[in-house]
Amino acid sequence: MIERILPKKTAPPEDSGIEEYLPDLQEVYDHLPKALKSSDHALIEKAFYYAFDAHKGRKRYSKEPYFVHCVEVAKILADLQMDALAIAGGFLHDVVEDTNIPMAELQKEFGSEIGALVDGVTKISGLHFESFEVRQAANFRKMLLSMSKDIRVILIKFADRLHNMRTIEHLPPATQQRIARETLEVYAPLAHRFGIAKIKSELEDLSFKVLDYEAYREIASLVSLKKDERTRLIAETINPIKAELKKFGINAKVEGRAKHLYSIYNKIRTRGKSFDEILDLLAVRIVVEKVEDCYFVLGVVHSLWTPIHEKFADFIATPKSNMYQSLHTKVRGPGGRLLEVQIRTKKMHLIAEEGIAAHWRYKEGTSSHDDVEKFVSWVRQFLDWQSDSSTPQEFMDTLREDLFSDEVFVFTPRGEVFTLPKGATPIDFAFAVHTDVGLHCIGAKVNKKIVPLSTQLHSGDMLEILTSATQKPSQDWLRYVVSARAKSKIKRWLKESQLEQSVKLGQELLQRELIRLRLKVTDEQMAEIVEETGHSALNDFHAALGNGDLSVQSVITRLTNKNIFPSKDSNPLQVVIRRVRRRDGGIRIQGMDDLMVHFAECCRPLPGDKIIGFITTGKGIAIHRADCKNVRTLLAEADRDIPVEWDVDRDQEFNARVRLLSEDRRHLLRDITNTLSALNVNIIGLEMKKEGALALGNMVLKVKDLAHLTKVIRRIQDIKGVVSISRFDEELESNNPEVLGS
Ligand code: MN
Repeated sequence: MIERILPKKTAPPEDSGIEEYLPDLQEVYDHLPKALKSSDHALIEKAFYYAFDAHKGRKRYSKEPYFVHCVEVAKILADLQMDALAIAGGFLHDVVEDTNIPMAELQKEFGSEIGALVDGVTKISGLHFESFEVRQAANFRKMLLSMSKDIRVILIKFADRLHNMRTIEHLPPATQQRIARETLEVYAPLAHRFGIAKIKSELEDLSFKVLDYEAYREIASLVSLKKDERTRLIAETINPIKAELKKFGINAKVEGRAKHLYSIYNKIRTRGKSFDEILDLLAVRIVVEKVEDCYFVLGVVHSLWTPIHEKFADFIATPKSNMYQSLHTKVRGPGGRLLEVQIRTKKMHLIAEEGIAAHWRYKEGTSSHDDVEKFVSWVRQFLDWQSDSSTPQEFMDTLREDLFSDEVFVFTPRGEVFTLPKGATPIDFAFAVHTDVGLHCIGAKVNKKIVPLSTQLHSGDMLEILTSATQKPSQDWLRYVVSARAKSKIKRWLKESQLEQSVKLGQELLQRELIRLRLKVTDEQMAEIVEETGHSALNDFHAALGNGDLSVQSVITRLTNKNIFPSKDSNPLQVVIRRVRRRDGGIRIQGMDDLMVHFAECCRPLPGDKIIGFITTGKGIAIHRADCKNVRTLLAEADRDIPVEWDVDRDQEFNARVRLLSEDRRHLLRDITNTLSALNVNIIGLEMKKEGALALGNMVLKVKDLAHLTKVIRRIQDIKGVVSISRFDEELESNNPEVLGS
């Protein structure tokens, strides 16, 4: 925990002019990193007095001078061993938001680097926000954007939030609740994402105290009640480890590890464990010098006590995405008590506690620069995925989800590791590998077995993705993916291709109608119509026609109003051309559902069926059988039909539903399935029920076309005992139940 030292209370009695109050700068100096130069000190001193003057006369809810907050924030940053610019930024972080000093002046005084730090933590102000959520999302977006350029922004923000949470009891209760919730839902997970465990734990405990005070107090008192017993038990555990390590000459720090209150609460709540179970679990941490020592110490621990193998995790070989590294094991310790052991090097320990702050300090040197980049690139990608299209609500939801999730580690066949949020499916994995793999993934193997794309992955799973050039994402996928990356890529694709298809469809619809009515329209005339209907480009106009926002009929009316009428041109050649065009002018139906064309559930047309397209509002064209009862009703509305015709590949297959009525006899099902497999027909759905002496069946079969289905039906009809078999038809279902029963 970061130590909390308040400035010396040199303040005069209340109401007698708080302007006099000036905390001792020496206090801050006590926290400063040793490495600072004298020019650094000068900068810090300047910021200190500047902030003091700026906030002069202002008080916080606690009645303390506002400046105390600035000093505390700077101290937290000094404790994290940040540089002079960040510490100065800590003093100045509220100057623009809370005083009359404009950003430009601060920048002139302290330069653009400090200016950018302060600007990053300064909230967007103004009255133009519709709601709290919109403002919150805008502020987070701005903060993340600033930190993607300079990570010190987020560290100043953490320090600010930490001190505000430490002094939250002075705020009105409703405000406390809101701030604590935001801290628990966004800032603590954000601190975790950046690996700063010590700030994360403190933020969690402080929020917990506000949000559920009863539970907080209870757990706190139980913990202190058990304290002596635990100290004794820990000593019993630590001593044998120390003795053993000494034998091998290994230099190590061995200590008991206390869980923070919120993590105890969370385990009780989410894992359904009792308080005793959690507190009986002893936890020990061993910190050594070198990486090799970690594995050696692991061997020593496992030779002292029996390990519980499935609880072993090597986060040294496979660091978590926040770059946490450690070995974790669980053993049956002294007296058969469960004991959790973490083993790591000093550097790993520092990184586990201070995360990105530690990486940032080392960045001048070696690989740590890349490490800082990894954190930053997560932020950049997140912002990229969330660009323009997402609403403030979506933005905050995705941020929360992305930050909150636990992780699973999965492997490619070549042993590469991918870290995914818990609950991830093969689709998430496919998008993590590459966007193209994601967009075309058609199936997956987990540990060499084919699984549905909706399967949830587990740590250690080995994954292979099967792709197909013709595969496309579907709306359904959004229900299976959890990663922000997959979600945003799928959404973007759907949006773009829906637009593309709407444009194509709109063009076609309009063109057909113009030809049918023999209307000749010039580009200029069309451009006028585009403008009149409120569209800035021809593409948008076509898209509106395609998705049903704009009707073709209304466009024709507009043309008529412009005195554009059907041409009287009766050149015989033209007439022939038109007739030919009309004959094969139907929109060609490829046989697959896509975003603008889908097959009606009520009649499930097959190639060979006469079909008709029905233009829906907003959902493209629905394909019905021409004799479908539904479409006849629908087409009572004028101008909603469109000619369509089949254009399918030879090897394409379609779902057809059939109903079967038979005597209920032994081996009936076997005979049916044998017949179907002889005809190379796959059954993809089967449901049989008994009604008296009869068996009533519903089957979904994969067939090529109408002729194929007719053949299948004929063969099944020949099976002994079969009374009737027919293509499923809603009309039959609803109007003639007695036909089936007789
Ligand atoms: Mn502040």
